[in-house]
Amino acid sequence: MGSSHSALNFGAGPAKLPREVLTEVQNEFLSYKDSGMSLIEMSHRSKEYEAINNSAQQLVRELLDVPPNYKILFMQGGGLGCFSAICMNLMGRTGEADYLVTGTWSSIAAKEAAKYGKVNMVFPRPETRSIPHPRTWKLSENASFVFYCDNETVDGVEFNYVPETRGVPLVADMSSNIMTKKVDVSKYGIIFAGAQKNIGPSGVVLVIVREDLLGNASKYCPTVFDFAHISKNNSVHHTPTTFSVYVMEKVLQWIKRCGGVDKMAQNSYDKSTTLYNAITNSNNFYVCPIEESCRSRINIPFRVGGANGDDALESKFLEEAEKLRMYQLKGHRSVGGIRASLYNATSVEDVKLLVQFMEEFRKQHGPK
Ligand SMILES: *Cc1c(COP(=O)(O)O)cnc(C)c1O
Repeated sequence: MGSSHSALNFGAGPAKLPREVLTEVQNEFLSYKDSGMSLIEMSHRSKEYEAINNSAQQLVRELLDVPPNYKILFMQGGGLGCFSAICMNLMGRTGEADYLVTGTWSSIAAKEAAKYGKVNMVFPRPETRSIPHPRTWKLSENASFVFYCDNETVDGVEFNYVPETRGVPLVADMSSNIMTKKVDVSKYGIIFAGAQKNIGPSGVVLVIVREDLLGNASKYCPTVFDFAHISKNNSVHHTPTTFSVYVMEKVLQWIKRCGGVDKMAQNSYDKSTTLYNAITNSNNFYVCPIEESCRSRINIPFRVGGANGDDALESKFLEEAEKLRMYQLKGHRSVGGIRASLYNATSVEDVKLLVQFMEEFRKQHGPK
């Protein structure tokens, strides 16, 4: 097969963005709406930026059906900054919190939280890449919130249900699967997501927070991390990452044009099923180490040449993929192997090309 297609980017983040959006940004970069100025040269208090800021919030509200008693904030400091911000805003009530550790990111979040109070592990970290059954969970009586990561980007583990917390505010890291499926926001205290995987460039973090959780920040909480303060000032309390929010707004428009989150969910299902089927039908040439009940639709790690992976074959796989302009397929350094990230901007067609390559590679290098 030829490589007439443009680069296929399966990177984990920052990640592929819709080409249409990038072209739009390029076209108006030097003169935003005939102003003779770039958007990035304008005040964050200009009417132009105000319109973008409000539209982006409105789009999040519409696309995710966010109830009126939730605020939508645009923050800085990345997903990692949010791990701390959540503790500084919410942990004060009881001084402790429950953590569901199912992989790399929730593990990092739990370590960060230990700086601010007592962290209860709801279950021991699983030895295989899986999610322990809820009947084995030990939620504590005294938690200020329950934290979990809805999709573990490195490990390829995703929840397909909302954890039950008996009324304790549920906090979700959706950095790598926001806007890839419908979410019942009313079941959450806070949902947050770094934009750079599904909804925009790096620099901005989307935070959706229930109103009654605002106003409890610790007195040491930096103002830039105080959800109540950001909310009161409509996310322009100090200079926001205007460029990131501007591009994010365009990605959200694009999602809406494509048919909204329902369409993204349908695509995610089609893309992941196509890839998992290719893995399953490969006679153990490709092996996905994740338990089937919690396989991610978004980040799909697998080994080449059997369950433990064959280093030489995996290098060859990456090399051959690059010749076909399929990039950033190398697994995270902590787990090795291959990982394909199938974010919103990656099309079903892109995944079919990947699978076609995988089948050809197997014919050439697999057992005869
Ligand atoms: C990428 C990622 C993060 C970290 O985001 P940064 O913006 O790099 O701090 C946190 N959680 C998840 C699930 C991620 O995928």
